[in-house]
Parts: sequence; structure tokens; C-alpha cells
Amino acid sequence: MSKYLQHCIAPDCGAEFDLDARLYVCSRCGGLLDIERREAIDATSLRDVWRTRRGSGVWRFREFLPFSDDTPIVSLGEGNTPLYDARRSADYCRLPQLKLKHQGCNPTGSFKDTGMTVAVTQARKLGARLVVCASTGNTAASLAAYAARADLTCAIVVPGGQVSHAKLAQALDYGAKVFEVEGNFDTCMDQIRELAEDESVYLVNSINPFRIEGQKTVAFELMEQLEWRVPDHLVVPGGNLGNSSAFGKGFRELLESGLIDRQPKITVVQAEGAAPFAKFYSEDEHESFVNDEHPETLASAIKIGAPVSWQKAWRAVRETGGSVITVTEQEIADAKAVIGRDGIGCEPASATTVAGIRKLGINENESVVAVLTGHLLKDTDYVMNYHSHNLIAPDGTALASTFGNAPIRIQSVKSVADILR
Ligand SMILES: [Zn+2]
Repeated sequence: MSKYLQHCIAPDCGAEFDLDARLYVCSRCGGLLDIERREAIDATSLRDVWRTRRGSGVWRFREFLPFSDDTPIVSLGEGNTPLYDARRSADYCRLPQLKLKHQGCNPTGSFKDTGMTVAVTQARKLGARLVVCASTGNTAASLAAYAARADLTCAIVVPGGQVSHAKLAQALDYGAKVFEVEGNFDTCMDQIRELAEDESVYLVNSINPFRIEGQKTVAFELMEQLEWRVPDHLVVPGGNLGNSSAFGKGFRELLESGLIDRQPKITVVQAEGAAPFAKFYSEDEHESFVNDEHPETLASAIKIGAPVSWQKAWRAVRETGGSVITVTEQEIADAKAVIGRDGIGCEPASATTVAGIRKLGINENESVVAVLTGHLLKDTDYVMNYHSHNLIAPDGTALASTFGNAPIRIQSVKSVADILR
């Protein structure tokens, strides 16, 4: 019997399923599934084991992953991403210090890889032939790459004309079949659910609990980088809410196994035009989650109105005493440019974190880590438009290029010194 099982998180259900049951949601009530260990882990010596273990930044923490040691894994050497001190971003947030954990430094340039290595490993273990996902772009790129490594056929369903060229280019180059659908991400998500019945198909959407297992190891890696000193705040962008869900689970497991003695407050930052979770959070009773039918933001990675993982994210925010806030398109654009000036660079969705931290009014004695989710090169159109004073918000408003840095046309390089004087 496996040491792990799948467990429905709905409080009034709690159904349990075999680890390898091909399920995406609870077959009894439709609730989200968590992967749980049946017995406690003896974590006494794990810090030392992990410190010296080389290889994938996800599988280094395999004691907390639901696989036996002899399972063939599908890996591109994901994880082991840098944790940067960001001086300019800290100044911008009026803090003495700010650390940025850059998940954009994964093999396909986004945080999705840490979950995908685990989900595609499970797909192969189950004998799937076709892996499928709906995506705003980063998931598509990531799944396409891992499917190629695993020799699996890969189908991607994306909202037509709404995915950045860079992300689409990645999926095509890794050999995925890309299908464009009329509508937005939420439409794509609805459509692929119909494929779940087919035995040879494995769905790798963020609802897939195995992805969360991989993504939770980022909490482990982060704690190792911080020498196991828990930060006061962890700030993540909020779109489909898989990130906040995964960090919540990771920190909870670290706490339960005695590897940390408290959890950071997990704060989720959404774009104002795509903020159903923030709306839910701001309600007094937190009773009904209302999807946003028309999410709008230039930060395409978080342009999601029906986040499938909201219950897990809510659990993470509630358990850690965090919060959910929104930032405007202008705030995202400016924060992104500031992060760039730290020599780091990220995609627009990632910049919600720094924009959010600036707004939160965090006490300067408190430590903060922001999670950047995607690489700068994921959306270069956005960057060029911002720096050329040409960035238009979804509602048609021209955004100010507060930190704009347009290219300058010159006749001769002799003028360069004059211009820069
Ligand atoms: Zn259930």
C-alpha cells in the first residue's frame, strides 16, 4: 500500500481515494483533492540530507513527494532558483530589505516547471499516452517541454489570440499540438474537462493535485536558502491560485514535521481587473465565491476569472493570517520596471507582488519575500510598449511610463557621451 492517498478537502465530505486513482476532483462531491501522507515523516536529519543532495530542486525533497524511490522521474533540472536581494525594489516599497524568489529562472522560464515535473512523472506512471492542459501560456510551455522529455503526445488548449508570442513559440518548438479556442482561459478550462473520461488522456491543469506537490517544494527550497529562518511575509501573484495553494501546503507540511516553528503570512496580489479572490476576501462572511465573467488585465498570466484552486488558496491565506489585495495596471507596470532596474526582470503578473508590497504598508522590522513567477522574456511586447510610452490598459487608458527607457536614435556615437552627461 502506498504511503500516500488522495483526500477531498471539502469539510463535509473528506472522501479518500487511492493515490493512483485517475481523478482530478472528488468523485463523490466534486471537491478539490489533496495528496496526503498516511504517516508522519521523521524529519530529524532531513535538513542535512537535503543540503548535500544534488540535482533537481524539486526531487531533492523527495521524502515529501508521493513516489517510491525507484519511480522513473521526468525532469529538466527544475528548481534551485535564485533568491535575490533587491535594493531598488526594497526602496520602492519603503523597506530596508526585500528578497525576490525568482521562479522565472526555471527551465521553461516560469514557476510551472516545479509542478510539471511531478505531474508528468505521474502521467507516465499511469500509462497515459496523451497529456492535455488549458493555459494562459506558461503552463502550455512547461507541459509541452516535459511531455517531450517523457515522449508523450501533448495537446494544449489556449484562448485564441490572447497568449504571448513567446509562450506560444515555446509550446510549438517543444512539439505540442496547440489548439486555439474562441473565448478566454476559463472557456478553455471548461472544454478540456470533457476529455477527462478518456483513459489514455491525463489532464495537467492546476486542479491536478500532483502539480501542487511539486510546487510546494519551493517552500522547502526557500527555507533552505533562508537558513530556516521563516520570513514574516510571503507575497505571491494571484491568478489561478495554484501558487498560493502550493506554498500553503508546503509551509503547513514543514510546520507539521517540525522543520519550522511558524508560517509566513501568505498574501496574494491580484490585478484589479481580474480579482474574484480579492472580492471574496473582502466580504465579511466569505460565503460565496463569485467568478469574474470578464477578467481584464495586461498581465495575461493572471487574467483568470474562475480560479479553480481558490479553496486551497483561501485555506493558505486563512491559516497563515495573510491577506488578498489588488493593484492597478499602472502599479503593475511601474513595479515591473523597478524590478527590472534591479537587474532581475520578470513578466507583468510577477510584478503584482512588488506593487502589492508597496501598498501593504509592511513594518520595516518585518522580513518579506516576493515570488516572481515568470521570466522577463515571456512578454517582450509589454516591455517594449512600456518603455516606448505606448502601453494601453485593457479599458483603453494610456498608461504612464513612469520609468520609461525608450531607445534613442542617434546619427553618430559621438553624441552618446553628450546625451548621458
Ligand atoms: Zn468530496
